[in-house]
Amino acid sequence: MIVVLKPNIAKKEERAVLKEIRKLGYRPHVMRGVERTVIGAIGDERTHQTLETLVSWPQVESVTPIQKRYKLVSRDAHAANSTINVRGNVIGGKKFQVMAGPCSVESEKQLMSTAEAVAKAGATILRGGAFKPRTSPYEFQGLGERGLKLLDKARRETGLAVITELLSEQHAELVAEYADILQIGTRNAQNFQLLIAAAKTGKPVLLKRGLSMRIEEWLLAGEYVLANENCGLMFCERGVRTFETYTRNTLDLSTIPIIKQESHCPIVIDPSQGAGRADLVAAMCKGAVAMGADALLIEVHPNPAEAWSDGAQQVSLEAFRRLMNDLRPFIAAAGRE
Ligand code: PEP
Ligand code: MN
Repeated sequence: MIVVLKPNIAKKEERAVLKEIRKLGYRPHVMRGVERTVIGAIGDERTHQTLETLVSWPQVESVTPIQKRYKLVSRDAHAANSTINVRGNVIGGKKFQVMAGPCSVESEKQLMSTAEAVAKAGATILRGGAFKPRTSPYEFQGLGERGLKLLDKARRETGLAVITELLSEQHAELVAEYADILQIGTRNAQNFQLLIAAAKTGKPVLLKRGLSMRIEEWLLAGEYVLANENCGLMFCERGVRTFETYTRNTLDLSTIPIIKQESHCPIVIDPSQGAGRADLVAAMCKGAVAMGADALLIEVHPNPAEAWSDGAQQVSLEAFRRLMNDLRPFIAAAGRE
């Protein structure tokens, strides 16, 4: 159920509504908009008393059921776009955001040179994997905590915020200590215990689409994040597995308008895993911007030919600089800054 409060309701009046919702057996999830506060009341409506009586309360504007299987993620719960503020960089707002950096953190020199270059080119968030989900156990698995420390150093030196992947529940607290955004990778998109652990750190979560995940499953996975006291969720399309062999994955740009219709959460596009080809990254970025994405997640490496992971899809520092320039008119045409 969604309980919408009237504008400018006093805290005391709001608390009374929250108390009643709990009393009736539901868990309230408060979402504050500019004008109104919306409360998602989560619970099994078949076994609990109805919340509809709240309509008669003077501070309540409306009480409506959400028919969708995903509730808090749904646009029905929150009509306006949600924004996520990461160290002053707002994702989902007017400003288009670019997250960029290497697939994996490899060394101090590699990370620092990339961080400086992407910051100079206009990126605001640094990406880099410290715990890497590699298909083969014999491939580079990431620097672990040492990688996180290097990301922290890069953040202090450049002012960029940091996004990095959380691979395992056991590392949730550790990764959250260093990351500004927790990335949940495609292989873990339906690892529900991991999603809950990520949510509970309180850090915003970027949830990649699973390799063969339907959009409804993806939205429901996102529901695990918002239902566990987290209020910063963004979806990230990174391509799905199809029969095609010219690309590593098939980047599904239709997810941009669909996620925008179904959810209030921001949508981010990862063109790097999307095609697995550096030569296609720029075109896919332009498409993503034009279709209304809120941000991009791009792999950038000072020497892609020698990268320890995903070399074929990482763009060089110079290619990234050019790409950022080429994107400017697309960002403006999409009504973003
Ligand atoms: C990555 O971002 O480097 C990565 C491993 O992503 P995905 O989970 O989308 O494969
Ligand atoms: Mn990668």
